[in-house]
Amino acid sequence: MPSKELTRLLGLREYQVVCIDEETEKGLTLFIEPVHPGPICPVCGQGCLFVHSTEDRTVRHLDAFHRRCFLRFEVRYIRCPRCGLQAEANDLVASRKRSTKAFRRYVGSLCKLLPNSQVAEHVGLAEDTVRSIDKEYLAQTYPPIDFRRLRRLAVDEIAYRKGHNYLTVVLDYDTGEVVWTGEGRGEATLSTFFELIGPDICKQIVAVSLDMAAGYIKAVNRHCPKAREVFDRFHVVKHLNDAVNDTRKLTLAKASEEQRSVVKGKRFILLRRFGSLEDHQVNELAELLELNNDLSTVYLLKEQFDEFWVRGNAGSAAKFLDAWIREATESGISPLVKVAKMLQRHRRGLLAYHVHRMTNGPLEGLNTKINVLRRSRYGFRDLEYFGLKIRQLSIERSPRQVRRAKRAIA
Ligand SMILES: [Zn+2]
Repeated sequence: MPSKELTRLLGLREYQVVCIDEETEKGLTLFIEPVHPGPICPVCGQGCLFVHSTEDRTVRHLDAFHRRCFLRFEVRYIRCPRCGLQAEANDLVASRKRSTKAFRRYVGSLCKLLPNSQVAEHVGLAEDTVRSIDKEYLAQTYPPIDFRRLRRLAVDEIAYRKGHNYLTVVLDYDTGEVVWTGEGRGEATLSTFFELIGPDICKQIVAVSLDMAAGYIKAVNRHCPKAREVFDRFHVVKHLNDAVNDTRKLTLAKASEEQRSVVKGKRFILLRRFGSLEDHQVNELAELLELNNDLSTVYLLKEQFDEFWVRGNAGSAAKFLDAWIREATESGISPLVKVAKMLQRHRRGLLAYHVHRMTNGPLEGLNTKINVLRRSRYGFRDLEYFGLKIRQLSIERSPRQVRRAKRAIA
């Protein structure tokens, strides 16, 4: 094949293929040389006539014809009158890198789809190298965030390692993009974020969706004078389910052998929403609730609470909430009283749902994807990288989301 054609097929612009330098079954090394005879200073763009010295380099390029492809060329060093000794400008490969820019973009785009270990195996590089190429790719592909557009946030914590290592994740509620991740959780961690964006931007934050953890609330109150906390629906449901489960355990502890067989293994039925139960499950549930008054009370109040979210306005929701809290408190059942107290403490943030209609739903969805990421072993070893990957996940839509969007248009 004429070298001109080969040059074009390899996507080279400033270089042309001179000859095949080395050819084995697995690999191909091509000798290339610059198209322009005169080197150019990378700093000021001035052409230079005098070449100071040269250096022989071989770099990895995109595979060609199912073979690993390497490019060998001479780097020319110039002495620019203005900028001093420089390696000539080179669009093909960044200085001191061992692979071309095109190859590195390819590796980065693979990392979007596959765990790094698989990418490493596929391209024949160490996992460490793949990670550093991906970091570089992420920094180039997703430019720094413009915090000035932030108005509404969602904040949550995620466990990034077994045990108690947490990351705080802050999401721009209006774009769905993760704008910050920080190690730790609670007031100090979230305050770091607010200090980073500065008081002017803090002042324009109108709402923050969060769980009922005291630390985050304190940070929001301290830094964002105009923000209203919105307590996340998913977390409220979780607390209600915990109350049902705790009551189930208390029932189990007091039950006779015969009753025990009715209660055992029914956790799922109790925690599932009533509307999504199968017919035979409804029967089992009835049997279960008949057994114990407390369990049946807690269960019914949990199911009733769904109504809070569908009330048309804050006034009507407030009436419902107060009645619910009163009933739960009067029941005297300790797991339920505990939830009632907590909801009473967070009454304002709960009612804010009816103003802003925000939930941590977008973050919960992201959490599932993060779990996949966490399984690849760099997830937790390099937190900066982990943060960049989380941001990528929040921006890039999964193939399934893309398919769904296409269907919606069609
Ligand atoms: Zn120069």
